[in-house]
Amino acid sequence: MSDEPLLEEKLIKRSQQKRMMSPLNYKERLFVLTENRLNYYDGRAQEKFRRGSIELSRIRCVEVVKDDGWLNPCKNKYPFQVVHSTNTLYVFAPNRESRNVWVQRLKDEIRHNRELLTKFHPQFWQDGEWSCCRQAEKQAPGCEEYNLSGDAYRKPLPPIPAEESSYGRHLQPPPLEARDGDPAEETVVALYDFSSNEPHDLTLVKGNEYVIVERCDVNWYKARNQNGEEGYIPSNYVTEKISGNLAQFAWYSKHINRNKAEELLRKEDKEGTFIVRDSSTRGTYIVSLYTKSVSKNGGRVVKHYRIKETEGPPEQFYLAEKHVFRSIPELIAYHQHNAAGLVARLRYPVGKQDRSAPSTAGFSYEKWEINPSNLTFMKELGSGQAGVVRLGVWRAQHKVAIKAIKQGAMLEEDFIEEAKLMMKLSHPKLVQLYGVCSQQRPIYIVTEFMEHGCLLDFLQSRRGTWNAASLLSICMDVCEGMRHLESNGFIHRDLGARNCLVNDALEVKVSDFGMARYVLDDQYTSSLDCKFPVKWSPPEVFNHCRFSSKSDVWSYGVLMWEAFTEGRMPFKQSDSREVVSLVTKGHRLSKPKLATAAIYDIMQLCWHEKPEERPSFAQLCLMISDVLEGDVAVAN
Ligand code: ADP
Repeated sequence: MSDEPLLEEKLIKRSQQKRMMSPLNYKERLFVLTENRLNYYDGRAQEKFRRGSIELSRIRCVEVVKDDGWLNPCKNKYPFQVVHSTNTLYVFAPNRESRNVWVQRLKDEIRHNRELLTKFHPQFWQDGEWSCCRQAEKQAPGCEEYNLSGDAYRKPLPPIPAEESSYGRHLQPPPLEARDGDPAEETVVALYDFSSNEPHDLTLVKGNEYVIVERCDVNWYKARNQNGEEGYIPSNYVTEKISGNLAQFAWYSKHINRNKAEELLRKEDKEGTFIVRDSSTRGTYIVSLYTKSVSKNGGRVVKHYRIKETEGPPEQFYLAEKHVFRSIPELIAYHQHNAAGLVARLRYPVGKQDRSAPSTAGFSYEKWEINPSNLTFMKELGSGQAGVVRLGVWRAQHKVAIKAIKQGAMLEEDFIEEAKLMMKLSHPKLVQLYGVCSQQRPIYIVTEFMEHGCLLDFLQSRRGTWNAASLLSICMDVCEGMRHLESNGFIHRDLGARNCLVNDALEVKVSDFGMARYVLDDQYTSSLDCKFPVKWSPPEVFNHCRFSSKSDVWSYGVLMWEAFTEGRMPFKQSDSREVVSLVTKGHRLSKPKLATAAIYDIMQLCWHEKPEERPSFAQLCLMISDVLEGDVAVAN
């Protein structure tokens, strides 16, 4: 009989993440394999509990997912994938044995299917990209040969691709119609005003709705306003207008850590000021709330509450167990009127819209050459190896930093080519490259202006005022910027506090990424000469010039050490040759006084002799965020 179960087991299913925005969730389901179908149920194997069903004849690939489960919050750590039609279902088995049984049995059942894949993706589709090959199109062809008769015990993880050349392709988003299940036209809401800089741009008014006509690249979309006018807009100035997208709400800020939330709320200094932000666990949120009325000595307090979810379906949300809601916006709306277990009601949202608009990837779509006559030069900000940096204003509107490159200091032609791609690296924790003036000598490099200048000077100038939380918050900013470079296969090669900058909101951003390749200075480029950053380099770099995202991780550990020593020089007493010898023998920088044991542990992980044993920036972000979050309050 066709519906006789061949296999039956409780496994965990990952949500399909049909939209890039939607958080992932993991639900336990009873999986039942029959001769014709793979069904899954919520609880019992009865029709009314059925949550999904896949016809075996439509399955194109079943395979183990090469992932150690480290980054997945799912309690089962043995994922496998079922590719059917154009979708991929990810299922997590409780142990290796169970996974092998399912994969092998399913492979046997689909053996004669007509549309089997020849190539597949051995790792997850996650947050808009394939983790294995970094392609950003869901329907992109697989990157590994699919072997239907191969056994389920697979090879170890492949190395993460790290060639700089791969990131350009990654930055192309999928065309609208390729995003499964999405309509071809999509409505967005403007989060900030944007005034068009070129005739082909479209002006945005905060709060107004626009229709996306084309996703030109990750940073620029073509949009239409309510009058039917079309033009380019920066993608980070709008958010999708769909239910469940918290970015539409004034109270939600994605990139705010605990320390930043506390700073923002204290600055407002109003009873009931609050912010909703992401927690370190993917897809869960924290409400940070400011009150003056709790502490006995009249001090101000910020409480952090985790938004909890009930067992679904449907999942519901709550802060206090007695008050449960179908959605987070409903929960917030309720607590705006009722404290109901919180120290105060949620009175005043502090949202991203209250702060200044973020940088755009260039001043307009595909515009990287800047006309020097649009620049006004102001005071000198500093000078480095490549030349003098001045404050400037572009078209009397935007403050910028302008670096005039000394002749002979740089491989200019190569850099100008690369600059087109670097401009597309746009992230709140990376100093934005706006463009270049390449038609003249000296050439100018125009970047985002950072009011407080270099991080190293900033740390030193405030010695004695730092605490562990604020230093860790600096490290978190840098880690997020580096995670973005890592996920685009881009290597910094010269990370250190000297190459990070601080803006007026006291955010720290990574600067000068990849620039070391264009420096024309023998003392800088050869590893034992005095300007080469040996003290920030791992053995594989000072011995063999082998750069990778994992060599950036080593440098990042040294940057953490610089932060927690308030800007001291690492290995102060030693010259380059001595440092090479010390590090080769296993000697490492010692624990700074301001660092806790947990923080020093993280630094030491970055200094593992073997690059593959060091954590990735994605893992470091989670570790740092865990230390930063500490305890959360409970509503009662
Ligand atoms: P280096 O070549 O030594 O890395 P840079 O040439 O990048 O240094 O910068 C020299 C100095 O100019 C920095 O230390 C900083 O004080 C200032 N500066 C550089 N870029 C910016 C910027 N975008 N905003 C503000 N100040 C900057």
